[in-house]
Amino acid sequence: MIIDDSHYDVIIIGSGAAGGTMAGQLAGKGHSVLLLERGGVMPLVDQNVADVDLFRKDRYHPNEQWFGTDGDPFSPQTIYAFGGNTKIWGGVLERMRESEFAGLVLQERRAPAWGLSYQDLEPWYEQAEALYRVHGRRGVDPTEPSRRSDFSHPPREVEPFLRELRLGLERHGGHPYDLPQSWSESPIDPTGDAELFGVDLARASATVTLRGGVQVLRLHVNPAGTEVKGVEASIDGQVWLFSGDQVVLAAGAVNTPAILLRSATDRHPRGLANGSDQLGRNLMMLQLTSILQLATAANSGKYGHSYGINDFLLGDKNVSFPLGTIQNGGGVLQDALFAESPPVLSLVSKLLPNFGLEQLASRSISWWAMSPVLPDSHNRVSLRGDRIQVHYNPNNREAHDRLVYRWIDTLKEVEADPVVQVVKQAPTHPRGEAPLSVMAYACGTCRMGDNPATSVVDLFGRSHELSNLTIADASVMPACPAMGFGLTVIANALRIGDQLAKRL
Ligand SMILES: Cc1cc2nc3c(=O)[nH]c(=O)nc-3n(C[C@H](O)[C@H](O)[C@H](O)COP(=O)(O)OP(=O)(O)OC[C@H]3O[C@@H](n4cnc5c(N)ncnc54)[C@H](O)[C@@H]3O)c2cc1C
Repeated sequence: MIIDDSHYDVIIIGSGAAGGTMAGQLAGKGHSVLLLERGGVMPLVDQNVADVDLFRKDRYHPNEQWFGTDGDPFSPQTIYAFGGNTKIWGGVLERMRESEFAGLVLQERRAPAWGLSYQDLEPWYEQAEALYRVHGRRGVDPTEPSRRSDFSHPPREVEPFLRELRLGLERHGGHPYDLPQSWSESPIDPTGDAELFGVDLARASATVTLRGGVQVLRLHVNPAGTEVKGVEASIDGQVWLFSGDQVVLAAGAVNTPAILLRSATDRHPRGLANGSDQLGRNLMMLQLTSILQLATAANSGKYGHSYGINDFLLGDKNVSFPLGTIQNGGGVLQDALFAESPPVLSLVSKLLPNFGLEQLASRSISWWAMSPVLPDSHNRVSLRGDRIQVHYNPNNREAHDRLVYRWIDTLKEVEADPVVQVVKQAPTHPRGEAPLSVMAYACGTCRMGDNPATSVVDLFGRSHELSNLTIADASVMPACPAMGFGLTVIANALRIGDQLAKRL
């Protein structure tokens, strides 16, 4: 084992939405920080794939397989690189709604409360939006939470056919709003991500050391099991040991619990920080279904997400429970999530015979239906030998199905309207549910809470058992919101990082 001879104030493991942001936040504050990232720098050309190459099977799958619910191996879509999954995300950065913090009453039961209120996170949302240059417009979405200030950047222009479609949706009683999105100023790398807005700040600072190609394997603790003494990692096949006063895990909702489970000792046979037996449990993933609509004329297939519709977020006619949210998926040729879904485009090919993949994509308008799920202790990340096992059965299914059918009915109404020329009536709307390999919106496996018997970390991400271990990523979320939670991960990491800095 090679022992790194430096000792750091803080070691951050993982450089995605949480870790990358926190590294940038701590940069230049006078503390020595070591950022350990499993991957390297993702080439620009891979980040902005916007053609049929996106549909290549191995695109955005690391050379690693996990075991699924049925026990068979599968290849997850996940990014190991500086910036983590934000390198291929859609960059739609939404705030959670106020009522979600108290625990939404879903059809089956109430989701757990967060232990934090929206007001607790609001200043951090504001900071996160400013940092990630979120472009949006206040006052359009009726479900928008209260905010102290408007977005500092207006939404970007959308393609003309989408403007007409928006008017069509409004004519039929819908309330489309501009999805808040992170944009950079760079023409060659327009989507904002955690490398640009976090890791790059850390790179520019003399007090942060960045190391890529470092796969953290496990944490070492003192004999009493009360403090992390070392971080063991594999670098080019060699085992290294790093040490720091504080250790922050931000390896994502699957790898963070896996590292702690691999760190089991005789004294902690169920893994570290696992006195509650909740480590790895309560895995939640947004339910996602893509729905395709046919456009009358070809579009580029390469434009960003445009509108969201929250008309069914908290219920619907005759339905008192939340269904979820609808988002326009942007151009099919730039949506890595869509490319992962079952072969929806092959269904479109039945409606448009003799079209190639690119032409099919350019004739399609994609929508995402997204619904929340409840935590379930049986849905979990565990280890099979040294490898990751994901056991997952989605819940809240009826609400999601209702959302999908409700949206298809809405699309049909708009298509039947002679004023709306940009979409065409079709006998069917091809749709596909995201498979298990889409781990994009995973959260909940190290949930935070006040009670050490039912949670893994406290409300500042601090382990209940190890005095110098903090968890900062999507794994700490006690409940799964109804829409993408990247902004919540970033805001919460800033909140946790601020607390951590006070302890240094
Ligand atoms: C295709 C796609 C589209 C998405 N679109 C959106 C969107 O539009 N809006 C939204 O809100 N969210 C979106 N998401 C989800 C969003 O990216 C995640 O919610 C967010 O990145 C989670 O942040 P995190 O810090 O928990 O994990 P990540 O961002 O995944 O970061 C984890 C980091 O840890 C590193 N790591 C893992 N294991 C180790 C190890 N053993 N040692 C060292 N480093 C390690 C990884 O390489 C990575 O850098 C999307 C995700 C995908 C995949």
